[in-house]
Amino acid sequence: MRLTRSFLPTLKETPAEAQIASHRLMLRAGLVRQTSAGIYAWLPLGLRVLRNIEQIVREEQDAAGAQEMLMPTLQSAELWEKSGRYEDYGKEMLRIVDRHDRRMLYGPTNEEMITDLLQGSIKSYRELPQILYHIQWKFRDEVRPRFGVMRGREFLMKDAYSFDLDYASAVVSYRKMMLAYMRTFQRIDLKAIPMVADTGPIGGDLSHEFIVLASTGESQVFYDGDFENIDWVNSEFDYEKSGDLDAFYNQMTSMYAATEEKHDLTAWSTVPKERKREGRGIEVGHIFYFGTRYSKAMGMSVAGPDGAQIIPEMGSYGIGVSRLVGAVIEAKHDEAGIIWPDAIAPYRASILNLKQGDATCDTICEDLYAKLGGNAIYDDRTDRAGVKFNDADLIGLPWQIIVGPRGAANGMVELKRRATGERAEVSLDSVLAKIN
Ligand code: ATP
Ligand code: MG
Repeated sequence: MRLTRSFLPTLKETPAEAQIASHRLMLRAGLVRQTSAGIYAWLPLGLRVLRNIEQIVREEQDAAGAQEMLMPTLQSAELWEKSGRYEDYGKEMLRIVDRHDRRMLYGPTNEEMITDLLQGSIKSYRELPQILYHIQWKFRDEVRPRFGVMRGREFLMKDAYSFDLDYASAVVSYRKMMLAYMRTFQRIDLKAIPMVADTGPIGGDLSHEFIVLASTGESQVFYDGDFENIDWVNSEFDYEKSGDLDAFYNQMTSMYAATEEKHDLTAWSTVPKERKREGRGIEVGHIFYFGTRYSKAMGMSVAGPDGAQIIPEMGSYGIGVSRLVGAVIEAKHDEAGIIWPDAIAPYRASILNLKQGDATCDTICEDLYAKLGGNAIYDDRTDRAGVKFNDADLIGLPWQIIVGPRGAANGMVELKRRATGERAEVSLDSVLAKIN
């Protein structure tokens, strides 16, 4: 992307409406713009990050055996009357009437719809278990939308739903999703702590929230430092082995984790001193098992081996995909701007031409840009070097390749790693190898 030809509206001033770092930086770096309260347009740069996060979420859901589908945003009120939630959901639900006076709603979640879809098609115990998911926009008319995309009204969620024949099998599905979540957040370079959570109005008794650590987060958390050290992505846990899932779950739940309200001083005192950690965090995911609450309400049952009808046991598993963009920035930024983790950065590198119009600088930059195959932002503006440095730090790509006339004449460029600030003079021949 050439800066002279792209829509990347950065701001020098701090927007007055933004109270937290991620919101300020998302506006300043030209990732999003608010179009009405709690509703955002994703601009080209922001959309690339959103898509990258979405893709990691997708790959880890697929690896756990969940199947992707896509349900619509608009739902019929009748579905929600069956579960009793049409009234219960209250004012957070956006209700719509179509031209034929049919009552519709913009989905805040999909338990009713997925259950209704499956109950029409799944008839036998042989067709279970199933885990299905989609990544779709949701609408919740939050009383106080704030913090940018962290608490929006329209937001992107991955929601998965599991259907099992009995409790034991539902627990296996739950553990698979929990492992998938730990792997997902690690790949996004976040430290996530699973907390036992209230089951809330949805009912049930098995529920965890995932809190990613960020010093500016809303909740105070107390946790075992091992959560930060275990490498879930390269672990040997196999989704198809129930023994592995048991071992994973036991390890996970044997470690202490609590928010301020639930902090248990007696249990905390048993955590070895050197492993005690305190911090702040942001909720990015929530998983829960709720038994037959929806399958029963929606009339779903399957024929068991002996012909008797079985009502499937369900769970649902959410990740706030758009909230994660904000959460990553809360966890990874400094005074100058965003510091994107490699795995989700919108582009790999910024190329800063310090003397646009200088034949050598231009040639080198064009060549690097071509070799990076579009995976770079080329700052080809005629602005001062200072402006380019500031914007590159603000946008926060993992690498900056700085091309100035003096080095260029000798076939050298400067390479800067955004995360550490380290700079090195490198030869043109080696710069791409260093980045890749
Ligand atoms: P919260 O307590 O933050 O309102 P919730 O309990 O309503 O969350 P869930 O229904 O479990 O959330 O939704 C799953 C995930 O969707 C949450 O963990 C969060 O990451 C995300 N999410 C929920 N509400 C919003 C919102 N208004 N804006 C952005 N993301 C959201
Ligand atoms: Mg909520």
